[in-house]
Parts: sequence; C-alpha cells; structure tokens
Amino acid sequence: MKIVRIDVGEVFIPLAKPFKTALRTVENVEDIVVRITADSGEVGYGEAPPTAVITGDTKGSIRCAIEDFIRPALLGMEIEDLDGIMHRLHTCIVKNTSAKAAVDMAVYDLYAQRFGAPLFRLLGGFRDTVETDITISVNPVPQMIEDSLEAVRQGYRILKIKVGKEGLADVARIAGIREAVGGGIRLRVDANQGWTAKQAVRIITAMEDKGLQIDLVEQPVPAHDLEGMRMITGTVATPILADESVFSPEDAAEIIRTHAADLINIKLMKTGGIWQALKICALAEMYGVECMIGCMLESKLAVSAAAHLAAAKRIITRADLDGPSLCRIDPYTGGPVYENGIIRMTDAPGIGIAGVPADFAG
Ligand code: MG
Repeated sequence: MKIVRIDVGEVFIPLAKPFKTALRTVENVEDIVVRITADSGEVGYGEAPPTAVITGDTKGSIRCAIEDFIRPALLGMEIEDLDGIMHRLHTCIVKNTSAKAAVDMAVYDLYAQRFGAPLFRLLGGFRDTVETDITISVNPVPQMIEDSLEAVRQGYRILKIKVGKEGLADVARIAGIREAVGGGIRLRVDANQGWTAKQAVRIITAMEDKGLQIDLVEQPVPAHDLEGMRMITGTVATPILADESVFSPEDAAEIIRTHAADLINIKLMKTGGIWQALKICALAEMYGVECMIGCMLESKLAVSAAAHLAAAKRIITRADLDGPSLCRIDPYTGGPVYENGIIRMTDAPGIGIAGVPADFAG
C-alpha cells in the first residue's frame, strides 16, 4: 500500500458557545485537514488546529510544512514501513508538531485499515470506551455555574473548569461550582499558566482547606517554570498535571526525572502525533506516572485519533477529549460515538471516519 497523494484542505465548524481560557477566546473550529490516498484507493484523514498561542502553529505554517516539506518526504513510501515513514516525518522538518500530528494520524488511519483493524486494537486495545470531561469556559461565576449544571444535566460526570485570570477569586469560582453540582461530580481545574508558583500554592491550599475535592490542577504556572511547578507539586496534596510544559517525550522525561508534576497531559498536537505520544506512554508507564489525554480545539477527526490512543493504553487514566461536544454540529460520518461524556469505539478499521466535508481545493 503506497502513498500516492497527500492533499491539504480546511474544515470550518461553529462552536456551540465561545471557548474562553486564560489565554484566548475562540468561536469556531477552523482547522487544516490532511487526506492521504494510497495506490489501493484507501484514504486516511488527519486534522490540525492552528493553536498559535500554545504550539506556535498557524493555518499558513501547517499548510506550508505539509506541502513543502512533509509531502515530498513521504510520497511513494509504503504504509507498511511505518517506522520509515515516522523517521522521515520527524526529520524532514523540526517543530511544526500540529502539521506532523495531522499527517501522523492519517498515516495511522491507513496503517490500521491495511490490517483491517480499528486503530485502538493495533495500539494496545486496553478498553473500548473512554470517559471524557467537558470544559467550562472562564466567565462570570453565575454563568460558569449554569454551564456546569447544564453539563451535568447532559450526563457529564467530570468537569474541567478554566481559571487563572483572577488569582484568589478563582477559589470562590470553584467553590460556587462545587456547591451547585454536589459531591458526586469530579472537578478538574486548568489555570493555563495563569498563576505564579506562590499564588498557585495559596490558591490550591485554599481549595484544599475548603474541602473542594479537586481531581487535579492543570498547568498552574508558565510552561518554562519547571522549578515553580516542582515547588507546587512538592507542597500541595492535590495532583498537579503538566500540560503546556510537556510537548515532546524529552519534556516528559525531564518532568518525570525532576518530579515537577504528578501527571502528564498528552496532546497529539504537542507531541507531533501518535508515534511520539506512544513514547511518552512508555516512559510514563515505566515510572508509574499516570497520563491524561487532551485535545486543542479540534473536531471529531483529530479527537477520534486521540480517543483511539486513550482506548489503547492503560497508563492514560484520564481523558479531556471534549472537542466534538463543544462543536455545534458534527459534519463527519463514522468514527467513535460521542454520547454524554462516554466515547464508544467501534470495530471500523482505522480511525473509522469516512465522510470528511473539507475543502481540498485550496
Ligand atoms: Mg490545559
């Protein structure tokens, strides 16, 4: 099965409501889509969002990396030579992890189709359902409480609360939500680098003192401040999850070696795809560091690739794969089924998504 075409297109999907974090506000998913065609006629799909404030990748840079560097490097290669393809993908250009992730997942889609298996079975096949949280955007407290209650009514049992804009006022925010949803709902808190280390210790300690039962606190301090994150991790009881601090397997190794965080958040757009994410899983498993799998503002295509990885690996104990739930419509056909926080894998070969209404004309 030889790679004969690599096409780049775009997909546009409106969000149900604006997505707001300490870093940005977004109203639509506007992503690059990759379609790889094999000489046998099968196609594999991948997707990459332009998350400039986190990855540095823009629509233009993703397109350019694929069209000018990755496509010429991979055309003509045999899909069965997965190791060879991944070596070229990761050496033909440095960084550009979103572009690499989109191509990586399209290659894995075809690779699994080649062997007639759903991707998660080839990668390890640990489970066939994955429970995801849903993100509650940063807003005035009454709206965050209403959004939380609405998510619980829809069936979500885990909420990820975006904070990091208002220091200690974030404690009242979380307390209000905890009081509204009750004790049976798991709450995760994501500061998106919004605190200093000392602020984080004060805020997290205050949440502990109030008995708010926080599942984890994600990326309390700026990505480069590993010393600060290590201090927080060593001081508070609440588990600390490294997100923006961990892109590559090398980053994960550093976090694990220095005990800078308790947990690692894997995102395909940071690692450059499944191939590299598997290395983080292997490292984390060796050292007993549990992982979460997350996504950027991605639609069902890229999130389903991540869901396959999550379903495959025991060390991925938490999932933050709410991209499709935040979209106003699902423009795809096929793929895993998303229902009220539970993602059900199917037996379709590959990633399983068949209909991709992207514009490949560009
Ligand atoms: Mg995060």
